[in-house]
Amino acid sequence: MSESLPEHLDPWRAAKSGLSFSGRLALDRLPRVSGAAVGSIEDPKPQVSYRLDFGRDESGLVLVSGKVRARIGLVCQRCLGSLAVDVRAELRVALVRTERAASELVGEYEVLVVEDDSMRPLDLIEDELLLAIPIVPRHAPGACLPPETTVEDGGLAAPADGVPETETGARHPFAVLAALRRESDTLN
Ligand SMILES: [Zn+2]
Repeated sequence: MSESLPEHLDPWRAAKSGLSFSGRLALDRLPRVSGAAVGSIEDPKPQVSYRLDFGRDESGLVLVSGKVRARIGLVCQRCLGSLAVDVRAELRVALVRTERAASELVGEYEVLVVEDDSMRPLDLIEDELLLAIPIVPRHAPGACLPPETTVEDGGLAAPADGVPETETGARHPFAVLAALRRESDTLN
C-alpha cells in the first residue's frame, strides 16, 4: 500500500500499520539539496523519487527502509563545467525516542531520535540525498580538461575587484557541504 507523503507523520503508528510511501516530488521542496545543486541540468523541473517503508526489524526496532534518488547538477571539479549526477541512496534508519536509546544501538543502522510523536519525512529524504552527493564530482576520466588558467596568469580574465560575485556564490554551498562531509567522515 502506497500513500501520498504527508508533511508530518507519527512514525510509531506508521510502523505499526506498516505504511509505505512512494512517489516523486519537486527537488525545490528540499532546499538543502537544491542549494547544493549548483550546476545546471537540462531538466527544468528536477524531481526526487522516493520510497519509504515503515516497519519493525526482528528485534522489534522501528525501522524506515527504502530508497531515494535524484538527478542533480553539480560543478565538475576538474573542468568547472556542469555535471549531471544521479544521486541515489538506500536507507535503513532506526527510530528511537531518546538519545540514550540511540547511544545503545551500535552499527547496522543509522539512528534518528524522534522525541515527540511526529517527524517530517521530507527531512529524512533530504538528509539521505545530502549524504549521497559526491564530495568531489568529476566527469569521467579523460572526458574533460582543466580550464585555461588565464586568471592566475594575470591575463585578460582577472577583473579589478577579484572573482565575479556569481562565481563565488555558486560554489559556496558545495564547499560548505564538502566541509560537513569531511567532518562526519572524521567522526566515523
Ligand atoms: Zn569536467
